[in-house]
Amino acid sequence: MKDSPEEIHKYLSPLLEGEVLVDRLSRLLYSTDASIYEVEPKAVVLPRTVEDVLRVVKFAGEEGVPVFARGGGSGLAGESLGPGIIVDFSKYMNHILEVNEAEGFVRCGPGIVLSVLNEALAGYGRLFGPDPASGSRCTLGGMLGNNAAGMHSIYYGVTRDQVISLEAALPDGSLHSFGKESKEKPQSEPKDNFHLAVVEPLVGLLQESQPLIQAKAPRTRRNTCGYLLDGVLKDGQVDLARLLVGSEGTLALITQAKLRIYDLPKAKALLILHFDDLDKAARAVPLLLPLEPCAVELMDRSVIEATREAFPEYASLLPGELAALLLVEFLGGSPDEVGARAEEARKITESARLACGTSMALDAASQDRLWEMRKSVTPALLRLPGDKKAIPFIEDTAVAPEYLAPYIQGQKKILEKYGFQAAIFSHAGDGLCHTRPLVDIRSSEDVGKMPQVASEIYDLCLSLGGSISGEHGDGLSRSQFIPRQYGALYEVMRQVKDIFDPQNIFNPGKIITRGQDIMTSNLRRLPRVEGLYPQNRLAFSAGEYVRELANCNGCALCRSPLPEVTMCPMFKALAEEGASSRGKCNLLRYGLIAALGEEEWAGSELQEIFDKCLACGMCTVDCPSGVNVLKLVLDMRGRLAEEQGISRASRALITFEALSRLCSWFAPLVNYFSAQPMLRFMLEKITGLDSTCELPHFSRNNLKRHLKNNSPGSDHKVAYFADTFASFSDPEIARALVSILEKSNIETVLPKQKGAGMPALAYGSLKRARRR
Ligand SMILES: Cc1cc2nc3c(=O)[nH]c(=O)nc-3n(C[C@H](O)[C@H](O)[C@H](O)COP(=O)(O)OP(=O)(O)OC[C@H]3O[C@@H](n4cnc5c(N)ncnc54)[C@H](O)[C@@H]3O)c2cc1C
Ligand code: SF4
Ligand code: SF4
Repeated sequence: MKDSPEEIHKYLSPLLEGEVLVDRLSRLLYSTDASIYEVEPKAVVLPRTVEDVLRVVKFAGEEGVPVFARGGGSGLAGESLGPGIIVDFSKYMNHILEVNEAEGFVRCGPGIVLSVLNEALAGYGRLFGPDPASGSRCTLGGMLGNNAAGMHSIYYGVTRDQVISLEAALPDGSLHSFGKESKEKPQSEPKDNFHLAVVEPLVGLLQESQPLIQAKAPRTRRNTCGYLLDGVLKDGQVDLARLLVGSEGTLALITQAKLRIYDLPKAKALLILHFDDLDKAARAVPLLLPLEPCAVELMDRSVIEATREAFPEYASLLPGELAALLLVEFLGGSPDEVGARAEEARKITESARLACGTSMALDAASQDRLWEMRKSVTPALLRLPGDKKAIPFIEDTAVAPEYLAPYIQGQKKILEKYGFQAAIFSHAGDGLCHTRPLVDIRSSEDVGKMPQVASEIYDLCLSLGGSISGEHGDGLSRSQFIPRQYGALYEVMRQVKDIFDPQNIFNPGKIITRGQDIMTSNLRRLPRVEGLYPQNRLAFSAGEYVRELANCNGCALCRSPLPEVTMCPMFKALAEEGASSRGKCNLLRYGLIAALGEEEWAGSELQEIFDKCLACGMCTVDCPSGVNVLKLVLDMRGRLAEEQGISRASRALITFEALSRLCSWFAPLVNYFSAQPMLRFMLEKITGLDSTCELPHFSRNNLKRHLKNNSPGSDHKVAYFADTFASFSDPEIARALVSILEKSNIETVLPKQKGAGMPALAYGSLKRARRR
């Protein structure tokens, strides 16, 4: 058996065009996702081609090594984690292959990020309908794996509803197309092994299980629990693509998808309904549905308060005294039409004495602001202070909308009984509840209560005909509870798994399991350290270091390729997990809990990963949990510099401020020579600075000289603390600012200024930075 990391690398690496990573740091980087779990894999493969995927799968099948598909790693239930080979589709297999406007479909690789796809489709006046809140970084492969949905599912449906066909690899390393086909192949057509071993037995099994499938179908439109067997056989046809969606990479690895697309909506109206009681808000939902809104979103008091607190810019949209609010959106052909439907919705809820206030957003800017506010809900909950965090473990149960009110009441009673406070928000139009109890996963008392709380809430949900998972899948959080939802049908699901994956190599332990305590096993480790952490080089207050690391919940926003998400430029450039802010936080956490051995501390790889940070500070602005990743990185760089020394190139860059001053004096000469390849080559030999890097251009007319020659003088003065680049390299920016101030009759003054010491800080020379 070739199942050690080294053997996997030795065997696979020559076979693949993509990357095979088996070093310990890469394995740790892929040990977590956005869930509360961690499992260390043996290897990480970043396939470039479909052939790469097939070779990995064939190897895994022959050697009995489990394989775990992964997209953005934004799953909340630990669906993509496992102790085998992780296949990350996001780096290379992320292309749009065809947009067919006439037939209304797109074909793409599984690693494409949803928002990237939608930006491209917008150019054709189209969109992909399902819109999970994680759309800025989740991939289509992950959405297919989870059957993801979002705020507009009552209009567009869930991911499963969009699939025309899929191409996917089976555990024997073969590639097949999955889509609608006749249940029985005509006698004249030859039957290949795939038909004999997979299609025929599946059709037989599903046919005989139809009564059970019907009986166990939850009475809610939202269901991602177990295998989705309903609708796979329909009208004399079998559609195995419908079975693969939601199977969380346990049946096949999707290598390509053909998906339905929609026209962009012409007109929208957004109604905001205020409530003085959560129960009234939940009771209003079924009254609104006959008007066919495209979204009905509910926020409870604790969610409203957390959002006001974390993001004061939204406070005006969220009056303090509210117990709940509903956002109700209508799409249609004209502003008048959607406006009239929204008005009708307002009247209905007011005359039923449910809503106590309303407002309407008819223009695109106000609507966007409201949806941005709604998307800030999870980040706001993640910013709640204290050790207890709003963690996902029972976070996506679903019932029919008419049962939403009693269901929420019942949940609250259960949570109160166990002493858990919780925040509830909901895709109410589909009866889907995001319930987030405040739990300290370092407390054995809290962890001990989690299975009991889940168990009682699931029983309540099932008693109302609901599903224990309506959106985020089963993963490690819910797989042990699936038999409770399906009873005897779970045995049919077990047979489905056996037909597809008899060796159990695809994502074993998820969906099909005999485990009883998976939900609370493999929880992320984080020690409770109240005081100062002795290894820190920068100033941290008591407990701050651990708190920062605990606050990184893995949400993966720092993996977003979108330009409007400013964090993390290093990930955008390299598309590597280690380059992201999340990667850094995870490695620091492993450092803290002593999971990094001497070898990792001594090797150059750790330094290389921490070098992949521009020190731009955008994470301090954009991170939804407010984690100051920059400070953590700089602290680590200081430590690594002390222990391993500072490279020649870093030393050269540390002197950049002083050098810039000098170079600006001799700018024409410096600029000429620095453009000569020979001189760049020599510079590389002396300083270690890569000769392929473009060197900054210097200006003789630096800012100081410019002001001396041009300042008109004024009684109104502004002190300008210009940085090195504005002073010596790009003075145009500084001059532009100065001329704007001049136009307002303000004189710019350059105070006597020492260098900021940022290069020294950024390259780990903390002593030198302090001297500054
Ligand atoms: C802040 C936040 C908000 C979220 N909001 C929503 C929401 O509104 N709605 C929602 O549905 N979800 C939501 N999620 C959960 C999650 O982001 C989505 O379900 C998303 O679709 C997962 O995509 P991913 O690329 O990150 O997948 P991953 O987490 O990497 O994987 C998810 C599953 O898909 C499987 N998979 C991945 N690629 C393939 C492939 N090529 N072939 C077969 N299987 C594959 C994996 O094995 C795994 O089982 C949210 C998560 C976060 C952190
Ligand atoms: S660093 Fe921030 S954005 Fe990145 S995963 Fe952690 S919490 Fe999310
Ligand atoms: S400071 Fe570093 S980790 Fe933070 S966003 Fe910038 S490059 Fe990424």
